[in-house]
Amino acid sequence: MKKTILTGDRPTGRLHLGHYVGSLKRRVELQNSGEFDRIFIMIADAQALTDNADNPEKIRQNIIEVALDYLSCGLDPARSTIFIQSQVAELCELAFYYMNLVTVSRLQRNPTVKAEIQLRGFAESNESGDSRPGIPVGFFTYPISQASDITAFRATTVPVGEDQGPMIEQTREIVRRFNSVYGETLVEPEILLPENSACLRLPGTDGKAKMSKSLGNCIYLSDTAEDVRKKVMSMYTDPGHIRVEDPGKIEGNTVFTYLDAFSRPEHFAEFLPEYSCLDELKAHYQRGGLGDVKVKKLLNSILQEELEPIRARRREFEKDIPGVYRMLKDGCDAAREVAAETLADVRRAMRINYFEDEELIAAQARKFGLGE
Ligand code: ATP
Ligand code: MG
Repeated sequence: MKKTILTGDRPTGRLHLGHYVGSLKRRVELQNSGEFDRIFIMIADAQALTDNADNPEKIRQNIIEVALDYLSCGLDPARSTIFIQSQVAELCELAFYYMNLVTVSRLQRNPTVKAEIQLRGFAESNESGDSRPGIPVGFFTYPISQASDITAFRATTVPVGEDQGPMIEQTREIVRRFNSVYGETLVEPEILLPENSACLRLPGTDGKAKMSKSLGNCIYLSDTAEDVRKKVMSMYTDPGHIRVEDPGKIEGNTVFTYLDAFSRPEHFAEFLPEYSCLDELKAHYQRGGLGDVKVKKLLNSILQEELEPIRARRREFEKDIPGVYRMLKDGCDAAREVAAETLADVRRAMRINYFEDEELIAAQARKFGLGE
């Protein structure tokens, strides 16, 4: 069977280290491995509008930022189709049909939807006195729209962060339901999670559960070297580790989580030769006698080494913005072609392809006594 990737990001801001370790870095590796027949990378503007209906300008401005982040990380339009969700109208039609295969209570149980309702401050019921905005229907149903994005491209593999697990499960259920009702048509996708457990859900610099654009706790791929340094030096560590000689905790210590995500053994020889590996550094920290500043400086050096080539490539792509838009337009054209084929299959399976169904027309003619 053909192996196809579909994944993407919401253009609600520039991309950050969470995106990078959770999905983006992996996509580039998979692209370069040549293991996949096709790779589709989607800028999910329509999904971003589901909770930003009153701020479309934010989405409009961030499309180019996300595209630049993609290119600077090494996504290559010659090998990966990069496109914008709203430009592929077929996706809406698929979602419209899939909506009939999912119940309201199933969506209400989706843990990611639940968490994001909280995060975005939507009121869960319409009790009087609650001044918070209610949940937009489009937001509530976005797992269904995600199922249409994935299935439209017959994706077999979806490389994403851990928060997307329930979304992929929802897609798989829709595929199974569709295929059992209308006949084998859609491909059931697999989630591809990061191998390194620190990358499943990278915490924010404030130590909160997830680095997220909406929480303002991000190190962006396009941050300047000085911004990165400042953010690292003010990162959350172990609040109980006050003096250098105090024993420190590793669990929940964001600086160590980032070292788990980004450091490689050779970094120690390069930046901190007194230690041979991360375990040795951790042991010293836990014993006491190792200050936060030293650990943060190591993290800063590692991050700068990883981010500098990305920043340099970004500066090159920024010189030809119209060229980036042309690349996106070509991507949208290519994506539309594939989605249209799937939509035609779906319509055929659902037998709503009335005009190509000569059997139907003949049978109806017979029914009305006008047949041969
Ligand atoms: P928003 O706040 O607008 O939802 P976000 O920062 O959560 O933005 P998304 O566009 O929702 O980013 O996520 C895009 C992809 O990046 C998904 O695959 C998601 O799993 C992954 N991702 C986002 N944040 C992290 C993180 N902190 N750790 C690991 N993966 C992440
Ligand atoms: Mg998100």
